[in-house]
Amino acid sequence: MRLMVSKSTNVIIIGAGPAGIACAIQLKRYNIDYIVFEKHEMGGLLKNANLVENYPGFPNGISGNKFVQLLKKQTRNNKINIKLETVENVEWAKDTFNIKTNINVYHSKYLVIASGTKPFVPKVPVICDDVKKMVFFEIYKLGQIKNKDIAIIGAGDCAFDYALNLCVNNKVIILNRGNQIKALPILQDRVSKVAKIKYFDNTVVQEIGTIDKQLKLILKNADESILVDYLIIAIGRKPNLDFIDTNLLINPYVFQIGDVKNGQFRQTAIAVGDGTFTAMNIYSILNNK
Ligand SMILES: Cc1cc2nc3c(=O)[nH]c(=O)nc-3n(C[C@H](O)[C@H](O)[C@H](O)COP(=O)(O)OP(=O)(O)OC[C@H]3O[C@@H](n4cnc5c(N)ncnc54)[C@H](O)[C@@H]3O)c2cc1C
Repeated sequence: MRLMVSKSTNVIIIGAGPAGIACAIQLKRYNIDYIVFEKHEMGGLLKNANLVENYPGFPNGISGNKFVQLLKKQTRNNKINIKLETVENVEWAKDTFNIKTNINVYHSKYLVIASGTKPFVPKVPVICDDVKKMVFFEIYKLGQIKNKDIAIIGAGDCAFDYALNLCVNNKVIILNRGNQIKALPILQDRVSKVAKIKYFDNTVVQEIGTIDKQLKLILKNADESILVDYLIIAIGRKPNLDFIDTNLLINPYVFQIGDVKNGQFRQTAIAVGDGTFTAMNIYSILNNK
């Protein structure tokens, strides 16, 4: 049995993506004590990005993976306090947040939610247990795969960015259930120039089966099916707030930063700006009390 020791700090930050890291770096500069919790690996969603070209300071763009390596280096150099624990529940009592992770219970005066987004999971096709290990919502989990056939469902920035990333070593098809493409024109243009990426509109995957260790995608209104090694689903994302009662979000000591609150404006520069702004705001509140 593990002994639970509760710990107190001024600020707890949930999530070590760009937003949470920026907030922690700025809090550290003010000498305000904080803890960042991260449930997977620091860097957040960014590790999936093919090429980040809109973050100032990288004149030739930078891959998401390289960007995350730099963030890791910066957190190490600055001794940023990140605990690899999953926040499971948040409660508020007597002017204190009680935060339960998978390992411990912590207390803080301020709570910064930087937990990003989670993917929409489609109702159709149903993803049964026997195909789960071949269906992905983020591509970093695939590692350096080569010579595979991959289908991507979606037609937004993520779907097109994933295709450009994966086509370097694999063959990719993009399946759009409608005929409107939401991806940035620059991504559409790049995809249209890559022979190893094929795009199909009005194509709905109705069912997923398996055949000879491959996925069999059965299409609606078509006699055909498509065989692939992996399926990526990129049909949108929603705020990741599973650990908190949403009534608590209006508490004046709760700050939401980054993608979790930015709706369609989900960009690294905005997340980082939110993080720095919130740390400065907390500093100002603490000093005016
Ligand atoms: C394919 C792709 C390409 C992209 N390209 C660009 C681009 O070119 N330019 C750009 O500006 N942006 C791009 N983005 C968007 C960018 O990645 C996000 O805007 C940015 O990562 C948001 O940062 P965040 O910190 O708000 O959230 P996230 O990066 O999502 O980080 C949230 C973190 O919180 C953690 N977390 C969640 N719940 C818990 C919990 N209960 N306990 C502990 N930890 C938790 C998660 O594990 C995660 O690490 C791209 C995204 C994708 C997917």
